[in-house]
Amino acid sequence: MNHEAKHLANIIEMIDFGARRTILESLYGNSMPVSRIKKICETHLSPNRFQFSKGKIPKDPAHYLSTGLLSQSSLFLNLFNKVAEIDKRGELPDLLLKSYRAFNEFLVFSKTEPKLCFSLAFKLYDLQSNGEINLIKCKSCQAKFAFFAQTNLTSDFTCPQCRPKSLKSSQGLNCNRQAKSQENLAAGAI
Ligand SMILES: [Zn+2]
Repeated sequence: MNHEAKHLANIIEMIDFGARRTILESLYGNSMPVSRIKKICETHLSPNRFQFSKGKIPKDPAHYLSTGLLSQSSLFLNLFNKVAEIDKRGELPDLLLKSYRAFNEFLVFSKTEPKLCFSLAFKLYDLQSNGEINLIKCKSCQAKFAFFAQTNLTSDFTCPQCRPKSLKSSQGLNCNRQAKSQENLAAGAI
C-alpha cells in the first residue's frame, strides 16, 4: 500500500473510532492537504456509537481520571505505552491507531461499552506527553493506573479497586485538590 492509500485507510478507521477533524488535521496535516482531510471527513461520517462525545474535548486531566473514565483511561495509556515501547520508530498516528485498536478489541471482548472515543484517547496521550497525567503503580495489585503527574502519592498509591472504603473519600478530596493546583499551575503558565 502506498503512503496516500495507507493514510486514507488509517483516517477512515480513526473516524470510525470517533476521531474528529481537528485531531485528524493535527495528525495528518503535514502529510496531506487539510482540504483533503476535510473532504474525507465529509464523505465518511462517523457512526453514532460515540454520541456522548459531542461538544468540546475536555482539557482538564481530572476529567480523564474521574471514576467513570479512570479504568478506560488507564487501559488506553497502558496499551499506548506498550505499543510505543515495542515500536520505537513508529510514527505517532500509527502508534495511536494500533493502541486504540487493541483498546477497542479488549472492550469488545469484555463486552464493555467504550467511553473513550479516539479523540479523547488522543487528548489523553497529549496530557501524558505534556507531563500532566502519568501511569502510577498501585502498591497493592501492581496494576498501573492513570493519575495526576507530579503527585506526592507516587510510592504510596492504592487504586480504587484495592482502596478500602474509608480511604476513598479522602483520596477523592486529594484528587480534587490536586486538580485545583494543576489548574492554578496551568493558569500561571499562561
Ligand atoms: Zn490496586
